[in-house]
Amino acid sequence: MGEGRTIVGRRALGRFWSALLCLPLLAAPFALAAASPKEISVPTRDGRRAVIEGDLFLRVPVPKKGGLAAVAKRYTGDAAREKDLLPFNRVRKGRRLTEARVPAALLTPAYARELQAALFPDDARTKEGWEHRFERGSWSDLARWFTGDAGNAPNLKAANKKLRTLKKGDHVFVPYGLLREPFRRFALPGEPAPTPATGAPQGGAPSPQGAGTAPPIAPPVVPAAPASPPVAAPPATDPRALLTYGKDEKGAYALYRLQAHEALYSAVVVRFTGNVSAPDVNALALEIAQRSGITNVTGIPIGFPVKIPVDELLPQFLPADDARFVAWQANETRVGEVPKPTHSASLDGVVVILDAGHGGLDRGAVKNGVWEDSYVYDIVCRIHQGLESRTKARVLLTLMEPALGLKPQETKSLTPNTGAVILTHPWFRQESTAETKVEVNLRWYLANQYFERLAKEGTDPARVVFTSIHADSLHPSLRGTMFYVPGTAYRSAKWSQSGAAYEKFAEYKAKPIYTQTDEEQVQTEGLSRQFSRCLEKSFKDRALPLHPFQPTRDHVVRGRRAWVPAVLRNTVVPCSLLVEVCNIANKEDAELLKDPAYRQAIAEAYIDALIAYYS
Ligand SMILES: [Zn+2]
Repeated sequence: MGEGRTIVGRRALGRFWSALLCLPLLAAPFALAAASPKEISVPTRDGRRAVIEGDLFLRVPVPKKGGLAAVAKRYTGDAAREKDLLPFNRVRKGRRLTEARVPAALLTPAYARELQAALFPDDARTKEGWEHRFERGSWSDLARWFTGDAGNAPNLKAANKKLRTLKKGDHVFVPYGLLREPFRRFALPGEPAPTPATGAPQGGAPSPQGAGTAPPIAPPVVPAAPASPPVAAPPATDPRALLTYGKDEKGAYALYRLQAHEALYSAVVVRFTGNVSAPDVNALALEIAQRSGITNVTGIPIGFPVKIPVDELLPQFLPADDARFVAWQANETRVGEVPKPTHSASLDGVVVILDAGHGGLDRGAVKNGVWEDSYVYDIVCRIHQGLESRTKARVLLTLMEPALGLKPQETKSLTPNTGAVILTHPWFRQESTAETKVEVNLRWYLANQYFERLAKEGTDPARVVFTSIHADSLHPSLRGTMFYVPGTAYRSAKWSQSGAAYEKFAEYKAKPIYTQTDEEQVQTEGLSRQFSRCLEKSFKDRALPLHPFQPTRDHVVRGRRAWVPAVLRNTVVPCSLLVEVCNIANKEDAELLKDPAYRQAIAEAYIDALIAYYS
């Protein structure tokens, strides 16, 4: 929640009267506010005009040379966008267009910022979305300006329950899921600003007519963003630099000194031990507190030494002479040497096997009014649709809900996919919850048979990707997406299932037992991690929340055990990944998952990452 939102008072009636009394006084110095909120024009700091004419536009001068195409190139980053500008810029016969309207949705982030600074100088992009300081307009106006769709007014209202009536100075919160482009791409405070596609305004911009008194000012120098910005909080240096090691009567420990604003469960337990489930995090935090002599976990002084049992540490945090650390480091080296896959930026020849994580009688995690199966299925449908329309990739599915087909659902309230089937031969439809394990195993049998068939048909194995989409239920303080890759250390060389439950399926009959060499598994881990790095970057680029410490993991830690989920552990596809799109035990993440715009953003970030992986 943004800090500003707490400012809102509860005495709505009192505020109403005081607002009414202040109105004539306030209105006088703001001549602009007196105009209809649908028609506002403000000069920008660079001498253009930021206008509200129903929607938001930047009014810019049209150069004699190049015309509207030059405008499109400069302000949207793409000359071909000229056709998108035409409907907003009707030219009268025999006259030259001297000023053009560029809709906010098409502006590069740098020009969108110029527009924002003029129209909404007190607004800010926040981690959760956007904070708007209310000046004028209705809920529908705000929805049109900030979400791109006036129809989002009820959603925007719902996100601001404390605001019964809109008053000047109120803080209106726009959740990220609703926020339109290009505001979504605005850098967060402290992050490098995005580099504009065709450069920020250069030199003194020509002053359009009616620009008012503000003379053109040279734009501030925008620092170039690093090619690949760091994704998570940990520094690039050895993460063990934060720890020292010792021993007490209970055995070996790692010592960490708590920093300002750090909490034991997140900064210590989640970060260093990899535990994420609520009971595990709470139990281990208690154990660590007792061992460290902490009596009040909510009032730990800054710099207080916290003892973490060495046995609980993730391998990368172990002392250098620990056998687990040595093995981990050796694996890292091998995985890091795996060469990149062959290029195919259009994804020509690429096949993506998509696995919607749950369905049928297995709904997956259920929390805060959402559940896994139908919500992750909707994301799979969106990835499928996007890949088919944007790229040349082929999509194969492990699961389908025949009643729904593959059409994305543009609604917040989905219904459970009780009729979902695994697309084996014959189809598998769960008849009791006891069959959930069979369903899980049939997923990888099917994925493996897809892969073997593709290989036989001549598909390059390096152009097949397997992705299972899930949503997790973790400690409620955690937010964001996590990616699981199949850690070589957690896999076996041979695996199979047996029993009557499997024998009727062609996929099982074709090959009941799988084997893989260590070398093949290292290859898989290497490629999968390359893909996950692309995913981390594209999620970051779209400002989608990522898990704060290790967004990519090679195993699950739960109930003091470590393993790779079966659907990943047992697939033979050389690039295999499991995505936990968010933590539905966290209320904000659960709200995001309900939002079709968020599900679409996840799908698009996935496709961008796949293109980057093959570029
Ligand atoms: Zn799941």
